[in-house]
Amino acid sequence: MEPLSLAFRERAARALHDPVLATAMQRLERGWQAARARAAADLPEFEALRDAAVAIKDHVLANLDLYLEEFERRFTAAGGVIHWARDAAEARAIILDICRRAKARTVTKSKSMVAEEIGLNAYLEAQGLRVIETDLGEYIIQLAGDVPSHLVGPAVHMTRERIAELFAKAHGGPPKQDSAALVAEARQVLRQRYLEADVGITGANFLIAETGSIVTVTNEGNAELTQGLPKVHIALTGIEKIVPTVAEAFVFLRLLARSATGQEFSAYTTFLTGPKREDERDGPQEMHLVLLDNGRSRMLGGPFREMLRCIRCGACMNHCPVYLAAGGHAYGWVYVGPMGSVLTPHFVGIDKSWPLPNASTFCGRCEEVCPVRIPLPKLMRLWREEAHKRGLAPPAARVGLTLWAFFARRPALYRLATRLAMAALGALGRRRGRFSRLPFASGWTVSREFPAPQGPTFTAQWRAARGAKG
Ligand code: SF4
Repeated sequence: MEPLSLAFRERAARALHDPVLATAMQRLERGWQAARARAAADLPEFEALRDAAVAIKDHVLANLDLYLEEFERRFTAAGGVIHWARDAAEARAIILDICRRAKARTVTKSKSMVAEEIGLNAYLEAQGLRVIETDLGEYIIQLAGDVPSHLVGPAVHMTRERIAELFAKAHGGPPKQDSAALVAEARQVLRQRYLEADVGITGANFLIAETGSIVTVTNEGNAELTQGLPKVHIALTGIEKIVPTVAEAFVFLRLLARSATGQEFSAYTTFLTGPKREDERDGPQEMHLVLLDNGRSRMLGGPFREMLRCIRCGACMNHCPVYLAAGGHAYGWVYVGPMGSVLTPHFVGIDKSWPLPNASTFCGRCEEVCPVRIPLPKLMRLWREEAHKRGLAPPAARVGLTLWAFFARRPALYRLATRLAMAALGALGRRRGRFSRLPFASGWTVSREFPAPQGPTFTAQWRAARGAKG
């Protein structure tokens, strides 16, 4: 997918005038935010689990090579085949080759953000394969020719009426207005597709080094049908998804659904260890795992390493005021919200995505709710610095920051300048008490008035208050 992140501002401005999106985002805010808060409050050890998850991830990242080797040994011993992919092109080529060798015509697929990252569907379709998404949200956006707008709820931006229209067009018959009827219709259509598929592609939420198992987590059971019915199963995931043991996988499983949707556990959590054995009735004859690097090793060795702790729960976007106003499509690439603002520059380059780390108020809510305590504001700030160093931001922002830095390094001068500026603005705005236009502040005054300042500066008030406390 060609990144459109440079147009974040224009895309967000359009989204702000979309009443359907606003309703969807309000629903998400009221629903998943409250559900996460309840789930966290109901589990006394929730904070301790978060600490444990951070410790496990940090340990794994410090020893990633050893755990990957251990995983490979066990996975291979269980009958699976590992494929290492350096980048998106390699991963796509490996998957196509497996499909060709299986003489596949139809491929079913469960939700995988890594597949979005490498543009897998478009590639396989261009090679003549029929790809069917089996996650309900992904199926809906596939019918619409759309892209996901949320990690967990890819079609969160769509109304029931729009989905009914899409289904009527794709499946025939009159549009159904009832959600249960729409789900039943999708289920009926997809059952047939599972049976037709030659290859099933899934993601993997976790890889367990001690057993060589891959773990899939869904609420619909579609990963199980995608993996279990065709003769060939391909799992695709990033190299950072390793956890050392089954017990440690449960630390993350207990956090994942609670942080994402407020459920105690997702409806389907499946541990897969190798393909079908001789004495088993179900399962694929071949099981492949494509382990993708695509810049992750570079991240591991640099200041963004903490981002590799991400378990793709979506809590950061569910609590981000910018995401909740602009929606996922404004971000212009696969990963959205605060985690997307950190990841996208890695995958597409900061020169093609510099507005994203700026799409944050730095309120800190993303870090507050992240189950693995990723310091997202700090990481976005690092990208802002990088963009500034490379001169990517508009000239006005660069000049403004340079000026501010000049004064901030000279506290006495800073205090004098802010006192003078406040006095001047106070005098100019005394009559009306506010400004409806101000030079260099049109971004503020375009939608609200700027109050004329009165009294001492914030720094002066702060110093006075601290002085009063002794
Ligand atoms: S950054 Fe944290 S909150 Fe956001 S998706 Fe990743 S794990 Fe979840």
